[in-house]
Amino acid sequence: MICTPVLSPLTAELIPSMVAAAEVADRIELRLDHLADLDPHNPLPALAPVLAAAPKPVLLTFRPKEQGGARELSIETREAFWRAAVNLDAWAFDIEFDLYPSIIAALPDDHPAREKIIVSRHDFEKTPDHLADFCRDTFPADARRVKLATRVNNTSDTRRLFEQLERFKTEGREPIVIGMGMPGSLTRTLGPAHRATLTYSAAMDGTPSAPGQFSADELRNLFRVGATSPATTVAGIIGNPVNHSISKFIHNAAFRATGLDWVYVPVEVQSDGADLETFIRDFVHPKTKCVPWRVGGYSVTIPHKISVMKFLDRLTPTAEAVGAVNTIIVEGDELVGHNTDIDGAMIPLESMTTLAGARVAVLGAGGAAHSVVRGLTERGARVTAFVRDVEKAKSFGEKFGVDVFQQETFDGGGFDGLVNTTPVGMRGFSEESPVSPEKLVGLQWVYDLIYKPRVTTFLREAEARGITTLGGLDMLIEQAMLQFKAWTGLTPPPGVMQQAAREHV
Ligand code: NAP
Repeated sequence: MICTPVLSPLTAELIPSMVAAAEVADRIELRLDHLADLDPHNPLPALAPVLAAAPKPVLLTFRPKEQGGARELSIETREAFWRAAVNLDAWAFDIEFDLYPSIIAALPDDHPAREKIIVSRHDFEKTPDHLADFCRDTFPADARRVKLATRVNNTSDTRRLFEQLERFKTEGREPIVIGMGMPGSLTRTLGPAHRATLTYSAAMDGTPSAPGQFSADELRNLFRVGATSPATTVAGIIGNPVNHSISKFIHNAAFRATGLDWVYVPVEVQSDGADLETFIRDFVHPKTKCVPWRVGGYSVTIPHKISVMKFLDRLTPTAEAVGAVNTIIVEGDELVGHNTDIDGAMIPLESMTTLAGARVAVLGAGGAAHSVVRGLTERGARVTAFVRDVEKAKSFGEKFGVDVFQQETFDGGGFDGLVNTTPVGMRGFSEESPVSPEKLVGLQWVYDLIYKPRVTTFLREAEARGITTLGGLDMLIEQAMLQFKAWTGLTPPPGVMQQAAREHV
């Protein structure tokens, strides 16, 4: 179930906010600690009419500041509030672990609130060590509904939260387990498939969502919360940062269109090798993983394309040749590193021009340039690289057998085509073109790997000179299609991935 918080500061705003949240959410959390006009000692007159108008079942929360709430609340005020509020007609009452014993002790044996309390514990700094002991000490044995929300600082924390989810279920509880922070987002996207009672979406009132949080619409329609189960195959993208990636839209659209019970999730893995090793070992490798789901495959992006190779059983010749992996394939109980960037980059270009014998200049010598230069030379193009640091790019030139020159010396007169593999022109990086327009004269075509924006200054200036242009979105889609085929053996219906990509660029 998806629960959407309502953080309105005024009681009068609660009903319209609930109506908006109810369009997608299964449950609505009223964060009453955000209400500035609520009398905590006499909450029933204000809240009873609100609950009577609730379009979906409601969870009430009244959290003190030191436990992540919006206002300072003494223990006496919290106690007075809950002693009254448990008589409201709500689906659940989220009561912090420190207050639970006194509230439950004061309730008559047959009071309906006894079955509705969620005992909650938050840690905004860390996921505590010895989590099993910590939870045993925190959650009384009679607490059936429990919520554990802790800061996830690395992949081990996420694994330990999934293990705790299993323990809670074995104990017969109805658990909510949330890993706060982007590295913990798997608990939000996949927890419900493994019987976490609910997952929280971002609020809908314009409050900025916390890292790792998704909108209710994304949880429902992108990550299929409510439709996923332990049988769902998990795929995803490993990177850092990773949340800006539009691959989640492209792959999930293709899974949906092909009717596969798969889900594709972003996974932020820290840049140090230890965290990547932990993720591959505990969440991906068929021989060692400790999560109960089937793994379909992973995309790999910056900064892990090279460092991931040592954790895989073998590489395809393509990945070997380029020296980087952007795709992990599961074959039996082995992990195979593959690279779809070469064909992904070349297929759109080959549909526009002939590469055999073409004189092609490539700007940059980074990760994408490796795939582009390899693809071009394989297809018989005569390649020259232009870079800002010739010394640094020396080994790149030697690896692929291409000449490397200072970028300022580039002149279109000596080439048929020019490929930009630098980030110059990318939204948020630069709005400039990597080459001045007069240097374009003589080129037949230009190719910019950047896809945000779809038409860069570089492409616009080339187009204005009658030069044929190609942007990076087609490569993004093509390499994703090749990944999809490698994982599933299927080809998605025409246009599905393209449409998903275009909608989100
Ligand atoms: P990367 O590994 O960091 O390489 C970037 C290259 O650009 C390096 O050679 C770097 O030189 C050079 N560079 C950076 N800033 C520069 C500047 N101001 N002037 C001149 N050269 C500069 O990055 P990448 O993974 O190759 O990605 C590069 C671009 O390709 C990004 O915009 C990315 O979005 C795009 N891309 C698109 C796709 C797609 O599917 N369409 C796939 C992959 C990448 P130094 O080594 O000197 O820093």
